[in-house]
Amino acid sequence: MEKRIYNFSAGPAILPEEVLKEAQENLMALPGVGMSILEISHRSKTFDDIINQTKADIKKLLNISDDYAILFLQGGASLQFSMVPMNIMPPKNRADYINTGAWSKKAIKEAKRVGDVNVAASSEETVFNRIPKQEELKLDSDAAYVHFTSNNTIYGTQWQNEPEAGSLPLVCDASSDILCRKVDVSKYGIIYAGAQKNMGPSGVTMVIFRKDLLERSSDALPTMLNYNTHVEKDSMFNTPNTFGIYIIGLVAKWIVNMGGLDKMYEQNKQKAKLLYNFIDSSSGYYKGHAEKDSRSFMNVTFNLSTEELEKKLIAEALAAGFSGLKGHRSVGGLRASIYNAFPTKGVEDLVSFMKDFQQKNG
Ligand SMILES: *Cc1c(COP(=O)(O)O)cnc(C)c1O
Repeated sequence: MEKRIYNFSAGPAILPEEVLKEAQENLMALPGVGMSILEISHRSKTFDDIINQTKADIKKLLNISDDYAILFLQGGASLQFSMVPMNIMPPKNRADYINTGAWSKKAIKEAKRVGDVNVAASSEETVFNRIPKQEELKLDSDAAYVHFTSNNTIYGTQWQNEPEAGSLPLVCDASSDILCRKVDVSKYGIIYAGAQKNMGPSGVTMVIFRKDLLERSSDALPTMLNYNTHVEKDSMFNTPNTFGIYIIGLVAKWIVNMGGLDKMYEQNKQKAKLLYNFIDSSSGYYKGHAEKDSRSFMNVTFNLSTEELEKKLIAEALAAGFSGLKGHRSVGGLRASIYNAFPTKGVEDLVSFMKDFQQKNG
């Protein structure tokens, strides 16, 4: 087999090797089925078992109550930017959005097509290097909901705790940190996440939807854009991304087997600490982009003193087997995405590489 290198890409991103191996072993024929997951009907008993087991594992991992539906939709997190306001902003037609980065801005842009958006707080002035404090939030008590982005993939910031939204439904884009730790789902109205960062391949979006919000959706909405359709048909109104759901199922099983989300969180914190501690101890040679109390343990963003040095490091790192370290074009610098599946050894190896680079180019 071709040797695997360290994949620090922000998404699509690394998946657990155990998951890839199991998918590979069973790709020609699922055990006891004699056909590939890529070939079977989404209406088959086999697929029914797969999607139900996937939902059961996610439900258990996040301790999700029966008040919520777990959906697997298409159109990416980007379609949720539209579906959320189209379905649950009326009849008030106003919502609070917290602007913590490029993805928040895209969500805001789509919500504005439906109604009034109150930007309750923003960290744009400082290139989104921090998460606003609760006291800074100027929430509109008459809003239909409060929307935030739990982890800002591009800037490397993450909410340590969700914002307090009082009695308003909290809506969260959790695309880049879903399943990285436990969250109290009962505090949320909707959590949505594109799978391709921390949970599976691209092409499937998980939506955890509190069912009492279904009554807000107008019958006038296009069928495919109405959450009622997908809840009633259990994500099978049209052909879902069967392979994507299968892989999410394997990832969920992998987390369950490893000991659940508390274990995952411990590991994630420890990996991120390795890298941040090194950055902080580099006498300013490497500079973290995010403020310390806003740091993400999924995406670690940092800079060197010049763009030339950054380019040099990225090129040498790639040659040494560390791929995907280039920062997003809007912030520049470097970004190491170290999602659930990223091995601790890979972070240790990156730290040694960066130490070495500093010694040679300091
Ligand atoms: C990647 C990402 C998106 C976009 O997801 P798509 O599935 O490509 O639409 C949205 N929000 C966040 C936080 C992301 O990281």
